[in-house]
Amino acid sequence: MPPRLVDLLKPGARVVIVGGGPAGLTAAYYLSKEGVSSTVLEGDDMVGGISRTAVYKGYRFDIGGHRFFTKIAPVEEMWREILGPEMLVVPRLSRIHYNGKLFDYPLKPLNALISLGPWTSMQVVLSYLKWQRRPYPVEENFEQWVTNRFGRRLYEIFFKTYTEKVWGTPCTEIRAEWAAQRIQGLSLFRAILNAASLNLRSDKIKTLIHEFSYPRLGPGQMWEMCRDRLVEAGSQVLLRHRVTRIEIEGGRAVAVAADTPDGERRFEADHVISTMTVRGLVRSLSPQPPEPIRRAAVALRHRDFLVVALILNRERLFPDNWIYVHTPGVSVGRIQNFNNWSAAMVPEPHRTCLGMEYFCFKGDGLWETSDPELIRQASWELEELGLARESDVVDGTVIRMPNAYPIYDSTYRANLDTVREFIDPIPNLHTVGRNGMHKYNNQDHSMLTAMMVVRNMQGASHDVWSVNTDFDYHEEISPRGGSPS
Ligand SMILES: Cc1cc2nc3c(=O)[nH]c(=O)nc-3n(C[C@H](O)[C@H](O)[C@H](O)COP(=O)(O)OP(=O)(O)OC[C@H]3O[C@@H](n4cnc5c(N)ncnc54)[C@H](O)[C@@H]3O)c2cc1C
Repeated sequence: MPPRLVDLLKPGARVVIVGGGPAGLTAAYYLSKEGVSSTVLEGDDMVGGISRTAVYKGYRFDIGGHRFFTKIAPVEEMWREILGPEMLVVPRLSRIHYNGKLFDYPLKPLNALISLGPWTSMQVVLSYLKWQRRPYPVEENFEQWVTNRFGRRLYEIFFKTYTEKVWGTPCTEIRAEWAAQRIQGLSLFRAILNAASLNLRSDKIKTLIHEFSYPRLGPGQMWEMCRDRLVEAGSQVLLRHRVTRIEIEGGRAVAVAADTPDGERRFEADHVISTMTVRGLVRSLSPQPPEPIRRAAVALRHRDFLVVALILNRERLFPDNWIYVHTPGVSVGRIQNFNNWSAAMVPEPHRTCLGMEYFCFKGDGLWETSDPELIRQASWELEELGLARESDVVDGTVIRMPNAYPIYDSTYRANLDTVREFIDPIPNLHTVGRNGMHKYNNQDHSMLTAMMVVRNMQGASHDVWSVNTDFDYHEEISPRGGSPS
């Protein structure tokens, strides 16, 4: 794609930001540091987006446990600047539940081979050697990418079931670049070296991390405190303002309209920063783009997500922060134990709060199941997995999160390019964040795209779309400077 031409930020510019998640609030925060106030329009009744912390009867839980981990200095700086002593360092323990046994995750080959037993272990090793000698010549999909690095048997045990649960689609239909992005730098060989402490570069292996930072009251605390700072500095963060229209005139965005409890409100804008889904953005453009652009946007799909928070009358249920469930026969994908993230998440220390995570599509059977039925199902699955008794569960609640995961299917790249050909030339409309760019970004990368866009509005020329694919480059962004150092 050719480099974007961006309108420069002029004094007194009216900046409207769509979405009060990490990317939207980071953009507002960076602007505020430069003395520019903005208006953040958030459709929900709380800030934080997918990185919010939900609260039920004093119990706090994430929409999926949110580790704060980054190699990007300005992101780390912003977290520390806002949270100060509220940021904790939490030891990490996460394991895989597979057929009644718990395996260390990240995979420790010795632990895995011993727990699998001699017969399966031998199959794993032989399969690994076979695929090292004769790998797939091309790595187009997830199955090929993982099999080439781990062998087919290990792929079948530790990758296939869980990944298909997450995406609701066969691994052969998931693009290899998702695997490359998520488990880059990890191979069976390197993992063995790591287990034997021979790999001096093991700190570089992305998924092998033994501790992480975490706000005392969950990720939502970061974004609630960020919102407070913004409001103090003169910006607006307006909740229950769902953007439905972005008006384009003369090739520029000129106003944003939102549905609010008091009817529609319209905000004139010199710049619009959008973190809403690409599909939602295209749908809101007025006048509407040509049909091929709309068709491409609608084809950009998401996987949705729901969490059943269970409160159990049990203390210290298991030591993990979370457990991946690879065991067949249950629908739960991952189980968070919020007591082990921060004691402050659980108001009654003799109880445990678990987040039972289900991957689904909006409108499918799981999504449509009633809350009481989901709580019953999650309690039953917990007992089925041998982690607690159904009767230990004393209460529960359900949170549904649409658009949790942008899907990398075989057509997404072409569809995204088609949409970008239309959107990129609008010089004062900027797309950032995870859904804003249809990119599988964690919080730090979502924040970084927002930081870069603000710098671009001040004359820098960061390639926002390279975030998460060209890591070293991103570390060059300076926290307050106008261009890469
Ligand atoms: C299960 C799960 C676990 C995760 N774990 C981690 C983790 O451990 N560590 C980590 O760093 N990241 C994690 N992430 C990723 C992290 O949640 C995202 O990267 C981050 O929240 C993206 O920020 P964002 O602002 O781009 O988007 P979002 O968080 O999606 O925020 C977008 C906001 O825009 C609002 N919005 C959308 N449309 C409109 C509209 N039309 N009008 C007004 N407002 C609108 C939404 O309500 C939302 O508040 C996880 C994600 C998931 C799904």
